[in-house]
Amino acid sequence: MTDTPQPSAPNAETPSAPVTPPAAEPLPTIVTPSNKEVVIIAEHFKGTLQPVTYELLGIGRDLADKLGGKLSCFLLGFNIKEQAQSLIAAGADEVYLADHPELELYRTLPYKRVITEFIKGWELPPHIVLLGSSTTGRDLAPRVAACLGTGLTADCTELDIGPYEHTNKADPDKLGIYPGCLYAIRPSFGESLKARILGPWNNPQMATARPGTFIPLKPDANRTGVVTDIPINLQGEDFRLSVLEIVHEISKGVDLADAEVIVSGGYGLGSADGFKLMEELAACFKNSGVGASRKVVDVGWIPYQNQIGQTGKTVRPKLYIACGISGAIQHRVGMDKSTTIIAINKDASAPIFKFAHHGIVGDVYQVVPELIAQLKAAQGSCPTVKEPALV
Ligand SMILES: Cc1cc2nc3c(=O)[nH]c(=O)nc-3n(C[C@H](O)[C@H](O)[C@H](O)COP(=O)(O)OP(=O)(O)OC[C@H]3O[C@@H](n4cnc5c(N)ncnc54)[C@H](O)[C@@H]3O)c2cc1C
Repeated sequence: MTDTPQPSAPNAETPSAPVTPPAAEPLPTIVTPSNKEVVIIAEHFKGTLQPVTYELLGIGRDLADKLGGKLSCFLLGFNIKEQAQSLIAAGADEVYLADHPELELYRTLPYKRVITEFIKGWELPPHIVLLGSSTTGRDLAPRVAACLGTGLTADCTELDIGPYEHTNKADPDKLGIYPGCLYAIRPSFGESLKARILGPWNNPQMATARPGTFIPLKPDANRTGVVTDIPINLQGEDFRLSVLEIVHEISKGVDLADAEVIVSGGYGLGSADGFKLMEELAACFKNSGVGASRKVVDVGWIPYQNQIGQTGKTVRPKLYIACGISGAIQHRVGMDKSTTIIAINKDASAPIFKFAHHGIVGDVYQVVPELIAQLKAAQGSCPTVKEPALV
């Protein structure tokens, strides 16, 4: 025994040394089987490919390159073979062609059968399948997803690839790091948040993409690719619906999706008459159109076809002039990829000034007539917009 004072046992008054928690087990990497292929489902009307198909090929090429896989495209229709080359020029490595009179016009069941039966025959499923969130894509995508036993994120505005770390102990079987996960990003909660939606458990991971959101690649006529005819085994039950007539809505003026300049009016115009001023300003530019916020569509000042935003059109003009529009997030998501945004609003604290490139604080009824007068005086009555923009 010694009289050297012994260290006393730790108690409430004497702080103990910090306890290092046991090192956490590293999470296993879980690779969900796939052939790494990104598949686009092309959309056309009577053989004319729709712009959203080229937009999907643009983002699809990026995703396929990140995965180190192939970009392919389903093309279903009749007498449509010559379009396959334009899909290859726009980024596809392979086109799966189904050419048949019964596929000339889109119908849900025949299209679903051809696509899903072909994919189900693959040894490994594709990694990703993308469609446009157009009327056709919104109809077809859930059918294809259900038939392939996978999930679907609708109406995405961003798509990317990355890992996902699943640490939720409520799913002990699923704990792990999933590489090559599709980040399907879309506005959520009334478009006040961006949600990143993941479905790493099954391949293909599926999404629809909002038309007008992604940028097509510059077509390259020298790109080479493979065109593969695929089996078509339609059944009697696929013809429960027949197309009797296609009625087109005749819209006045330029299609806003193609307009280089959009002059948009909001509730700050005060009445429907304010849109005459918007038309006058739009007429100062070639290839221009008039847009609107939802609030003015809801009160009946202008038809729905002019609405820009979450529940309207997504546009990407060279110049967007917002007149008397507050800049709510639901409007912003439809126009904030415009090259140049000019906002005219009498309230200096209006949210639109936070993302407009140029702002004019003032009354639309003073500013716009002055703008029209100056444009007419400086450039004649119809100037052409040049990159990056007029102003
Ligand atoms: C689910 C959901 C979906 C939606 N989808 C859409 C959509 O697709 N598109 C869309 O636009 N909205 C959409 N909305 C509505 C959106 O939230 C806004 O209510 C709407 O965009 C507001 O329209 P506004 O800017 O014209 O009107 P307000 O918010 O009333 O703004 C009017 C602006 O005009 C200014 N002003 C007033 N008088 C003048 C004047 N004389 N001169 C200059 N400025 C003036 C004011 O300062 C104000 O900033 C959606 C909402 C929800 C919940």
